[in-house]
Amino acid sequence: MADFEWLEPQTIPEALKSAGELGEEAKLIAGGTWLAIVLKQGLLMPSALISLHNIDGLNDVRYEPGVGLRIGAMVSLTAAEKSPVIEKHFPELAYACRVVANVRIRNQATVGGCLCDADYASDPPSMFAALGARVVLQSQSGSREVAVRDFIVGHYETTIEYGEMLTEVIVPERNPSTSGVYLKYRTRSHEDRPCVGVSAIADINGDGVCQGLSIAVGAVANTPQLVDDVATLAVGKQLDAPLIKQIADGYADSIEPLSDIRGSSWYRQQMIQVHVKRALTQLGGVS
Ligand SMILES: Cc1cc2nc3c(=O)[nH]c(=O)nc-3n(C[C@H](O)[C@H](O)[C@H](O)COP(=O)(O)OP(=O)(O)OC[C@H]3O[C@@H](n4cnc5c(N)ncnc54)[C@H](O)[C@@H]3O)c2cc1C
Repeated sequence: MADFEWLEPQTIPEALKSAGELGEEAKLIAGGTWLAIVLKQGLLMPSALISLHNIDGLNDVRYEPGVGLRIGAMVSLTAAEKSPVIEKHFPELAYACRVVANVRIRNQATVGGCLCDADYASDPPSMFAALGARVVLQSQSGSREVAVRDFIVGHYETTIEYGEMLTEVIVPERNPSTSGVYLKYRTRSHEDRPCVGVSAIADINGDGVCQGLSIAVGAVANTPQLVDDVATLAVGKQLDAPLIKQIADGYADSIEPLSDIRGSSWYRQQMIQVHVKRALTQLGGVS
């Protein structure tokens, strides 16, 4: 592993100053569960690492009425899965964090890190995308918000720029009639990354009519897959068996899955159909 300088800023402005001055020479380090591996493999050789550990204000989880859930970038996946605030407002998000790897990884890995590493075989990113979450990116020249679905643009690739830092994730407020589910399908061990991960969010009113549906399928392509024209088929209708099948088939047909050690493209396509169907059934549909 190449030598690097270790910086420990105490505030966000200090971190942004270092990140802005060093540009592509530096990497921010959060939990280090991803970065340590690529540094050891020599895939990245930054001359400086900027640790986010001593910075106040990146570890908060709070719910702001009118806005939604605000999760600091340095909140660990363990803290997220155990947060009473997340459990109360978005239990499916707490669950998607709970099924990541094992407790040792979750204790280290952070919400910001899991979005910024943009590994396709991940759990929380598809849930954030399905929930319509936005990341807040700060730099010395200001702040901008980007929807998670537009933030992750490829395998290990996001729209973050040198000098920017992800400071928080905002999950927008939703109707009380909305609920969600995350289905993680693994093919190897119970600690493995997903072969397919389906995040489904549905707003179903008291008459059983769907007022909104969002489904993001993770781990099957370079980015979480949302097929809006298929999901919107549900709007204004009851999620009955033929409609659930139509949506599950539509997702399977619209996505071109990749092949890897966890499953072939053909197999993933079958599993997308099965798990979208299961997710919609759990959300109150009748299959
Ligand atoms: C053995 C193992 C098993 C795993 N299994 C799973 C699994 O089942 N499901 C799953 O979803 N994931 C899994 N992961 C991936 C894990 O969730 C990620 O490695 C982790 O979330 C990355 O977060 P981190 O805080 O450790 O990021 P780091 O490693 O610190 O950083 C990752 C990248 O993000 C950048 N970064 C970090 N924070 C910020 C920030 N605030 N602003 C800007 N850039 C930032 C860093 O510069 C780096 O490029 C696994 C990882 C390992 C090692």
